[in-house]
Amino acid sequence: MISVEHLTKYYGSFLAVDDISFEIDKGHVYGFLGPNGAGKSTTMNIMTGCLSATSGHVRIDGHDIFDEPDKAKRQIGYLPEHPPLYMSDSPLEYLRFVGEAKGLHGTELDRQIDEVIHKTGIAGVKNRRISNLSKGYRQRVGIAQALLGNPRVIILDEPTVGLDPLQIIEIRDLIKELGQTHTVIFSSHILSEVQTICDEILMISKGKLVAFDTPANLEKKLLAPNEIRLTTDANPDQLRHILEKVPAISRLTVEESSGRWTVARINTDRRDIYELSRAIYLAFAAGDKVILEMALKKGTLEDVFIELTESSTNEKPAGQKEA
Ligand code: ADP
Ligand code: MG
Repeated sequence: MISVEHLTKYYGSFLAVDDISFEIDKGHVYGFLGPNGAGKSTTMNIMTGCLSATSGHVRIDGHDIFDEPDKAKRQIGYLPEHPPLYMSDSPLEYLRFVGEAKGLHGTELDRQIDEVIHKTGIAGVKNRRISNLSKGYRQRVGIAQALLGNPRVIILDEPTVGLDPLQIIEIRDLIKELGQTHTVIFSSHILSEVQTICDEILMISKGKLVAFDTPANLEKKLLAPNEIRLTTDANPDQLRHILEKVPAISRLTVEESSGRWTVARINTDRRDIYELSRAIYLAFAAGDKVILEMALKKGTLEDVFIELTESSTNEKPAGQKEA
């Protein structure tokens, strides 16, 4: 459906998008997740033909966005970060204007306007001035115009920014609903939002695509738990001594120590924490000390996000990280 190949964008000498490639199939909700300045809007502007790339290709259904812009753009509805809404118009007037610009007219235009007004829930405000609408409703008008022309792909750039909590929930529900009939790509810097709405997450950091997978797979692949917390009757010196011979421990932190027990955190770089747990257990038995409590910490997608976006000088895409 959409294929992005080696997309690169320089603003002057500043590299905003750095050799991004990915493929998007139809009928899913995709989330562009990344902190501010990551390059999400730049990528979306290029994908929708609003901005030229320095190099690379974007193809929509096989049509190159730069070589065959008309055919490619017909497949895409776009809500940019700052949509050019005409404040003195009503939603109805504005949708008529956009629909005509997209080549619709007559009864087909009327039918589609009715349909998108219904889909986005703006029937009650369709004759008000846009300037008098809340940000939530303006965003709906923006989504309605993206839907005109019945494009198969809807691209929404940070559609929930600046909305109040209730409006955010409504727009998220709307995105999920659109995902049943369209391919939806939306951007966000909020992990939980992307996690709850998307089938697939594209994590972008400093112009690079650092991960592309389902939320569940990202957690599984990238975050085998890497921390063990244990309570033992060994004192900190005995504890260090016992663990000296256990390989693969990258850090040992004593959190708490009374005369009777010690609480410590053990970190490892290894993937197989179960093997490490076993080695720790046997070391304690050999050292004639006992483990009173032992827990494996499970990583979260948030940890992945922080790790990936903080350390994106790491050249390897995260999906290919070694075990
Ligand atoms: P995001 O949408 O993820 O917040 P952007 O794509 O808007 O990121 O921006 C990526 C980087 O490119 C940022 O560092 C931003 O300052 C820079 N940038 C964006 N637009 C321009 C521009 N027109 N000229 C120069 N730098 C820009
Ligand atoms: Mg942006």
